[in-house]
Amino acid sequence: MLMNFVNSFHMKKIQMVDLKGQYSKIKEEVDSSVLEVLESTAYINGPRVHEFQKNLESYLGVKHVIPCANGTDALQIAMMGLGLKPGDEVITADFTFAATVEVIALLQLTPVLVDVDPVSFNIDIDAIKRAITPKTKAIVPVHLFGMCANMEAIMQIANDHNLFVIEDNAQAIGSTYTYSNGKKAKAGTIGHVASTSFFPSKNLGCYGDGGAIFTNDDDLAHTIRGIVNHGMYERYHHDVVGVNSRLDSIQAAILDIKLKKLDAYNRARQKAARAYNFAFKDQANIIIPTGKDVCSGICDTCDCHVFHQYTLRIINSNRDALVKHLNEKGIPCGVYYPIPLHRQKAYLDERYNEDDFKVTNQLVKEVVSLPMHTELDDEQIEFITTTVINFVNS
Ligand SMILES: *Cc1c(COP(=O)(O)O)cnc(C)c1O
Repeated sequence: MLMNFVNSFHMKKIQMVDLKGQYSKIKEEVDSSVLEVLESTAYINGPRVHEFQKNLESYLGVKHVIPCANGTDALQIAMMGLGLKPGDEVITADFTFAATVEVIALLQLTPVLVDVDPVSFNIDIDAIKRAITPKTKAIVPVHLFGMCANMEAIMQIANDHNLFVIEDNAQAIGSTYTYSNGKKAKAGTIGHVASTSFFPSKNLGCYGDGGAIFTNDDDLAHTIRGIVNHGMYERYHHDVVGVNSRLDSIQAAILDIKLKKLDAYNRARQKAARAYNFAFKDQANIIIPTGKDVCSGICDTCDCHVFHQYTLRIINSNRDALVKHLNEKGIPCGVYYPIPLHRQKAYLDERYNEDDFKVTNQLVKEVVSLPMHTELDDEQIEFITTTVINFVNS
């Protein structure tokens, strides 16, 4: 305990996300790129946007990246591009950020929330199957906390029932999915279309808002490029109702610099996750996050989990007391997510039955996300893990 006290006294202040520490290491390059854009005056749709788009396409191995204003727009535009109609049912996870279900409802589609898997926290495959009706048109898997959902099974269901798959990849950019035959693909390149967010705290974050849509489908890419630009395919000809959703050139310039470092950033997150997992793995009251069975998400050679969040389950029902204790010790933490979407006022639906959401209802009581970013050091992790372990055993 004395050791902890001494450590914490000298230790760098712990942050949930250390944007400043990360920026300080790329400051010169970022500042000069931003200044170049300012001088160029090509603030909207400048060459930097196109360059970033091309670089992201080749990084992901996807034919089309369409940049847009944020991750919520990206989801909405993806659904608009697919031509989904009011009343179409869209299946998504009950345990996710509200943006996913929000855009479904905004487009007057019918959200159908389903339970998640207790190990991966991602959408439950059997729950998807049970939720399919003749009105079902799409599935939106969310690659939660940095790990790709079971896309092989989801694409199989989609093929069998003629459904679209829209990947919400806001939390898992850079994560690699491995099929049962060993083939690999980046998260966000497997479904018919995917969305991502460049919100500052995301694994690839800019210094403002940003987002993008990915697809391998040429026709869909064309449709979407018009939708993001007021439904215009030819100047001042508005063929469809579109939106105005753009990534600005300053953000693109920053993202292009950070894209080159994305693998290193994700590796830094994985290193921190490995250290956390190592400390917590034998704790009776703690369930650690795992990736695919083959690697537990923490090996050196696989990128199946890129740890947007490092999320524990505290199974002795002391989660809220732990959160309070950590905050008192100067350790920020988060509860993602404290309320299941099916119990949010905006998304109540009399067709839902509490028995169908057993896992989510449990997770919202147990989960806690620890500080996770690219700048965590050994001393901080030691202090965090010791503080958590002492508390759950006290
Ligand atoms: C962040 C996030 C979004 C929304 O992204 P914004 O850029 O904030 O609009 C959507 N879905 C998930 C799962 C997210 O984590």
